[in-house]
Amino acid sequence: MLLLEAGSLGGGASGACAGRAQICEGPRGAHMDLVLAGLARLEALEAELDAPFEWRRLGNLVLIEHERHWQPWVEQIAYLQQRGVMAAMLDPADLAAAEPLLRGDRFRGAAWCLEGHLNPLKLIRAYAVAARRLGARLRPHTPATGFQVTGGRVTGVKTAAGLLSAGAVLVTAGAWTGDLLAAAGGHLPVQFTHAEALISEPLPPLLHHHIGLADFYETIHTAERAVSIGVAQQMSGALLVTEAVQRTRTIHRTNSGWGIPALARDLLTLFPALAQARLLRAWAASSPFLPDELPAIGWAPGLDNLFVAACFLLTIPTLPVLSEAIAAALLSQPCPVDLSAFHPARFPPPDPARSPAC
Ligand SMILES: Cc1cc2nc3c(=O)[nH]c(=O)nc-3n(C[C@H](O)[C@H](O)[C@H](O)COP(=O)(O)OP(=O)(O)OC[C@H]3O[C@@H](n4cnc5c(N)ncnc54)[C@H](O)[C@@H]3O)c2cc1C
Repeated sequence: MLLLEAGSLGGGASGACAGRAQICEGPRGAHMDLVLAGLARLEALEAELDAPFEWRRLGNLVLIEHERHWQPWVEQIAYLQQRGVMAAMLDPADLAAAEPLLRGDRFRGAAWCLEGHLNPLKLIRAYAVAARRLGARLRPHTPATGFQVTGGRVTGVKTAAGLLSAGAVLVTAGAWTGDLLAAAGGHLPVQFTHAEALISEPLPPLLHHHIGLADFYETIHTAERAVSIGVAQQMSGALLVTEAVQRTRTIHRTNSGWGIPALARDLLTLFPALAQARLLRAWAASSPFLPDELPAIGWAPGLDNLFVAACFLLTIPTLPVLSEAIAAALLSQPCPVDLSAFHPARFPPPDPARSPAC
C-alpha cells in the first residue's frame, strides 16, 4: 500500500479539527449504527494501534437559545437514549451547575450527551505509525498530479517523480476530492467551508464539556460568513475554539482578518471569565461536504478501479469502521457494513446539453 499526500500528514482538515467523536447531532438509522460502532472501536483503538491519542469520554453540551430548536432536540435526545447513549435535556439550573463559568442567561437550556474526544494530530500519527509497522509506504509532499486512464481503468497515477501503477486507486483528498476525481474523468460536487480555529495557552481546569450551539450546522452551511462557537478544554489544559466559517471556491489555509477576532468575541460573550486567557495559535482549513450532507464512499462510476471516500461529516466517530470497510472494498473482500446510501453514483455528472452556454 502506498499513500501519496500532497503536503504533510494531517495538513488538511483532519489535523485542524476539534477532535470530537460526535454523537449528539448524529443522524438516525443506519448512519447512527456506524457512529455507535465507530465509537465502540475508538475505545480500544489506542491499544490496537499501540499509540496514544488522548482518547477520553467527554460530555457534549448543545446550548439552545431559540424556542424552535427545543422540541427537535427533545426528540433527538429521546432517540439517543433509545439507542443506549447517555443523554439528557438540561434546564437553565442544570446548565449552570454543569458549566459554572458559562454566562447562560440567554439559553433556554441545553441538550447533553456523552461523546468521545481525542487529539486529532495524535490520532493521525497513531494511524501512520501502525500503517508503517504493517508495511505501508507513506509519501508526504508527493501530490498526485493526474491520472492515466485507459478503457475506464486508472492505469497510472501521475506524480512529479513519474507514473505509478496500482491495482486499485483510492481518492480520499477531502476538499480537493472533486478536482482530483475530475482529473480522472469522474464527478463529485464537493463543496467546502473555510473554517478558522484557535487554541489558547494551557489553563487550569475550567470547562467540563465540549460546548457548542444548537444552530451550528444551520449557521455555517447557510450563511456566506458566520461564527458558531465550539469549545473544549484539551488534556493539555488549552482551550480549542472552533469555528469562524466562510464559503469560498478556493481551498486555502490563511486566516481572515475577521475570523479570529469574531471567535474570541463570541467566546468571551459565553465565558467572560476567560478575558485574561492568551491565544497561542490560529489556523484555517477547508472542511468538505456534499449537497445532501452524506459521505461519498464507493467505486467511482465509469472508472473500474477508482474508489472515492470523502465528505464524511461525522468523521472521527465513523472513521474506524469506514476505513475498514474501504480497505475491504479495495482488497475485493466482503464489505463489513452497507455503504450503499453513500454511493457516489447518486451524483450523476451534469448533462452538458443543459449547461448554459458561456
Ligand atoms: C475547524 C474544524 C473543526 C472540525 N471539527 C471536527 C470534529 O470535532 N469532529 C469531526 O469528526 N470532524 C470535524 N471536522 C471535520 C473533519 O476535520 C473533516 O471532515 C475531515 O478531517 C476530513 O478528512 P479528509 O481526510 O476527508 O480530508 P483532509 O483531512 O483535508 O485530508 C485530505 C488530504 O488530501 C491531501 N491532498 C489533496 N490533494 C492531493 C493530491 N492531489 N495528492 C495527494 N494528496 C492530496 C491534502 O493535502 C490533505 O492532507 C472539523 C473540521 C474543521 C475545519
